[in-house]
Amino acid sequence: MGLAKTAEEIALLRENNQLVSRTLAELAKHIAPGVTGLQLDKIAEQFIRDHGAEPGFLGYRGFPNTLCISVNDVVIHGIPSATALRDGDIVSIDCGTRMKGYVGDSAYTFAVGNVDESVMRLLRATKQSLQLGVEQAVAGKRIGDISFAVQRHVEKQGYSVVREMVGHAIGTKMHEKPDVPNYGQRGSGKTLVKGMTICVEPMINMGRRDIVQDRDGWTIRTKDRKPSAHFEYAVAVGRDKPDILTTFEYIEEVLKQKGSMI
Ligand code: MG
Ligand code: MG
Repeated sequence: MGLAKTAEEIALLRENNQLVSRTLAELAKHIAPGVTGLQLDKIAEQFIRDHGAEPGFLGYRGFPNTLCISVNDVVIHGIPSATALRDGDIVSIDCGTRMKGYVGDSAYTFAVGNVDESVMRLLRATKQSLQLGVEQAVAGKRIGDISFAVQRHVEKQGYSVVREMVGHAIGTKMHEKPDVPNYGQRGSGKTLVKGMTICVEPMINMGRRDIVQDRDGWTIRTKDRKPSAHFEYAVAVGRDKPDILTTFEYIEEVLKQKGSMI
């Protein structure tokens, strides 16, 4: 677990994560004030099954749905509900697939209608921190180089990094070792090897880093109830540069057309 994957395994992980990317793009078309989490969940489940895969999260450790839908102060693991999204909300959608023995796992945080500029800045900073983290996914670097790149970028803008929940290696299982924290020291942690496949997923809070869990046993929200953002890529460690298995291109084509780029 967590060791270098073969080219064939990486191809299967790419296939899964590209399907997650396309599922998120399909959801992007529907995200608007008035739509409910449960409606989005149905769309995603159907889309995934229509493309020959299974929802990766449904039933995983007992999770009840296809998507994790985390609105505003919910950091991750929100359960899709019948509550409609409202103008000004942000919504993180985390999606997983299972196909041909491998899995996909990626997330994007969307703006619903007109979102306050200060919250838009949080979304952009979090997405940029993902990009900066992933750029460190090169053989010979350390896990801590990814962690440090994410943490430095967001903290210098006054945001905070969730510590309790972290990224992870990915393969035949959704969560493999090693962990990929979003905070840490440069040059620390496991050395990255070409072909290791990991999910980098900064969870960044506008206020303090502290989190609490709801009584449902899943929903993680900020203790101070300020907004939190989350973006996730699956990536294979490359010799000279990262091989990103996910893409946000499909999502962002849709967002551009809707005029709601973050
Ligand atoms: Mg995820
Ligand atoms: Mg993940």
